[in-house]
Amino acid sequence: MLAGFIDLVLPPRCGGCRRVGAWLCDGCRGRIRRLHEPLCRRCGAEVESARRDCGCRQRLRSLARLRSAVAYEGPIELAIQRFKYQGWRRLATPLALLLVERLVVEGLAASWAVAVPLHPERQWARGFNQSELLAAELRARMSLETPPGQLVRARATPPQVGHDRLWRQNNVRGAFVWQGPDLAGRSVLIVDDVATTGATLEACAAALKAAGSGPVIGAAVARVSV
Ligand SMILES: [Zn+2]
Ligand SMILES: [Zn+2]
Repeated sequence: MLAGFIDLVLPPRCGGCRRVGAWLCDGCRGRIRRLHEPLCRRCGAEVESARRDCGCRQRLRSLARLRSAVAYEGPIELAIQRFKYQGWRRLATPLALLLVERLVVEGLAASWAVAVPLHPERQWARGFNQSELLAAELRARMSLETPPGQLVRARATPPQVGHDRLWRQNNVRGAFVWQGPDLAGRSVLIVDDVATTGATLEACAAALKAAGSGPVIGAAVARVSV
């Protein structure tokens, strides 16, 4: 557990290159790859022409929008791995700021920010839920309210990494459930660190919609190109 607290007492160190001085140094910021326009209006994927959507409507039925701040490459990939697996929790701030910037530019907001939950066993092993740290930053910086309940994993699911779109979709379908009052048509930002096909965010959005939410916007710091 000690390793999980080291970032709270040591001076800032770059999540991309480990240089001391800032949690994300200017050099690494300069090497962040932004997503290339045009992007699919619905899921935010890089597309060849600016059509209304890329064909994602059939599989992303519950998500009104999905947006990612940057590409999951280079310093951002390293920073997210240190954030999640090495307990560099202070990286939540610079990573969330990239996402806030993107959401503000697009004029996207919501009543609540809800994190994609980890299974309790995985959260216990890691000591924290990285998505919850990001959601907390979004609440503070975008003046969003704390949700009146919580989204939980109804069952454990094997990691999505290394599987195709259909497998991922089936793996997480019905895996989440809202515990709390009816969401009364209010809009929700569902927050994760990385989005690939959007299947996990979609499964979360389905649970929120089933609990009566209004539009659900998926928001991830980084996007994996598929
Ligand atoms: Zn750096
Ligand atoms: Zn799309």
